Amino acid sequence: MKTCVFTTNTYLNHNTGPGHPENSDRVTTIIKNLKLLKSTKLIWAKPKKFDLKYLELAHDKNYLNNVNNCFPEDGLNFLDGDTIVSPGSKEATVDAVGSIIAAIDGVMNKDFRNAFCAVRPPGHHAEKKKAMGFCVYNNIAVGAHYLLQKYNLLKVAIIDFDVHHGNGTQDIFYNNDKVLYISSHQYPYYPGSGASGEKGIKDNILNIPLDAGTQSHQFFNAYDNIFKKLQEFKPEFILLSAGFDAHKDDPLAQINLESKDYYTLTKRILVLAKKLCDEKVVSILEGGYDLNALKESVNYHIKSLIE
Ligand SMILES: [Zn+2]
Repeated sequence: MKTCVFTTNTYLNHNTGPGHPENSDRVTTIIKNLKLLKSTKLIWAKPKKFDLKYLELAHDKNYLNNVNNCFPEDGLNFLDGDTIVSPGSKEATVDAVGSIIAAIDGVMNKDFRNAFCAVRPPGHHAEKKKAMGFCVYNNIAVGAHYLLQKYNLLKVAIIDFDVHHGNGTQDIFYNNDKVLYISSHQYPYYPGSGASGEKGIKDNILNIPLDAGTQSHQFFNAYDNIFKKLQEFKPEFILLSAGFDAHKDDPLAQINLESKDYYTLTKRILVLAKKLCDEKVVSILEGGYDLNALKESVNYHIKSLIE
């Protein structure tokens, strides 16, 4: 069984303006370097068109109408101070969601073992009613809802190892105990949420705040609690909000992971996934803003996924 990477070139037309850290070079670098792996265990696919009603599972209808009208005919439009859209963003944002939906279908149908979505914009800061932090649609939240709705799953886990708290994903699932949302993140830090006391309505949120300066061994110690919680929950499917900005070279945060730590982290998640949910895992890109660190870290993540 293989690993499938989902991507498409529409991300190139999601223009966030000059000097923006969340730019198309991120995904271009990832794709170029994954191709260099020349692995026979890696296959490539494009996102598919999906029924846009699935966006309503994660977002408020008014919000979706506003987003639909926000894409400019030319130039840029600001949804918040740092969430910027351009004409091409309309297609790119839908394709980012379409990639996780296609990846989920492929894993559920056993077309491949697991998948990684190399897409942008990211999604985990997008709340039910609010665009935020470079994110428009919450890709992974739509994916989790899709698993519940389309495949009638009862328990889906999201592990978010991006260095920022996924306030959007937490917001969407705060009252939904079919989804366990787990986040490790620098705290206190952007976006401000993610204290350990934020636990969800039925203890279905686990926040692991990390101090600035956290080193690899401390990070992995913190993951012991995460793995314990995951084992108790017994998910039928695991989704990964794969941000690589906890890397020591990332310019947007101060956690000190090495590139190879993403191999170890992924491996540990996959060992549990094998035990808990028949290895059903789909990962989607969130942050990661140093191109070299991002490229190396994603390569390690994929090396683990294809093993
Ligand atoms: Zn981030």
